[in-house]
Amino acid sequence: MRQAERMSRIGVETAFDVLLQARKLEAQGRDIVHLEIGEPDFPTPHHIIEAAQKALDDGWTHYGPTQGFPDVRESIAGYVSRTRAISVGPENVCVVPGGKPIIFFSILALVDHGDEVIYPNPGFPIYESMIRFAGGVPVPMPLIEKRGFSLDLDLLRSKINERTRLVILNSPENPTGGVIPAEDVRAIANLVRGRDLMVLSDEIYSRMWYEEAPVSVASFPEMKEQTIILDGFSKTYAMTGWRMGYGVMPEWLAESVNKLMVNSNSCTASFSQRAAIAALDGPQEEAERMIAEFRRRRDDFCAGLNSIPGFRCALPGGAFYAFPNIEGTGLGSREMAHRLLHEAGVACLSGTAFGEYGDGYVRFSYAASLENLMEAVRRIGEFVGRLPSPLARQEMPVG
Ligand code: PLP
Repeated sequence: MRQAERMSRIGVETAFDVLLQARKLEAQGRDIVHLEIGEPDFPTPHHIIEAAQKALDDGWTHYGPTQGFPDVRESIAGYVSRTRAISVGPENVCVVPGGKPIIFFSILALVDHGDEVIYPNPGFPIYESMIRFAGGVPVPMPLIEKRGFSLDLDLLRSKINERTRLVILNSPENPTGGVIPAEDVRAIANLVRGRDLMVLSDEIYSRMWYEEAPVSVASFPEMKEQTIILDGFSKTYAMTGWRMGYGVMPEWLAESVNKLMVNSNSCTASFSQRAAIAALDGPQEEAERMIAEFRRRRDDFCAGLNSIPGFRCALPGGAFYAFPNIEGTGLGSREMAHRLLHEAGVACLSGTAFGEYGDGYVRFSYAASLENLMEAVRRIGEFVGRLPSPLARQEMPVG
């Protein structure tokens, strides 16, 4: 049966495919260390679960308002105002099922055929997928390892023109763990301020940082009117399965997002929304413990990776991903990821799953126990040790 042409332009997320392959190998009796999927390996804090259980008992099991319950939006607006040093109200908040729908809806609402969208590359694959799906022109913004995976501001300046409709930022970033320095964010704000374009600032990892706190572009003068902040509960509170996220945006855009919501989801699950209040306004210790644990794992895991010949891993400033450069091993990214899974029993993603500028890298999620991370380092080290040296590989006859 013929499908709509637009379906030829939509992409997928490789992490879910690799997870499936890894599960198949496990079903055949193989032991796999899972470092492919981007979700915290911690339970949702118990007081949040209790709030959801109570909400179910109290009958929060029906439709709610499309934009989200007013008190939930109030709580989110308070949190965003506090953490970004801006003043936003419940009218600016759209509650949606997870962070992803904000990418989907913002792009559908803003991007027409031929409009250009600048997005980070390597970056979350859904950006490019959705830009293409909407008929937009993806304009990749390469991230630079030497700049802590921030971007080249002169290059960004050269890419902005009258067709640019949207600039996507993501800090801390998936897959690199990079945090855009405050000075760069200020410079980006200066570049885009007053132009007829919006910024989608994906801040889903905003609480997961280890040295320099990420700064929202919305915090700079006049930028609130030009920014969509994406944030949510999946990562910070280990709530990936609850499907709770939100966007904070000017009211004119919130109206459009509401229309897209009513045409797709009607509303976000009512009991998940009640639990979200407990997450934001309740104790934060468990979330903070989880982040402290990620920092410990980051330090040990990256040190382990850097001890492997041919691996060079910059210390990520945030999120829970390590993005080592593996060019020194002589293997390409896809081959490395494939062989690590099949020959070493370590599931990870090729850097190219995040765009062409991810070539030469692989992504590991360190949302796994320290024991598993160290076992992964051991297995990768052994695997790399069995490879012919890059020089020997070059000299090997082809075929
Ligand atoms: N944005 C980025 C950069 C992500 O890495 C993810 C999830 O991996 C999301 C958005 C989506 O989060 P959610 O699971 O809440 O839809």
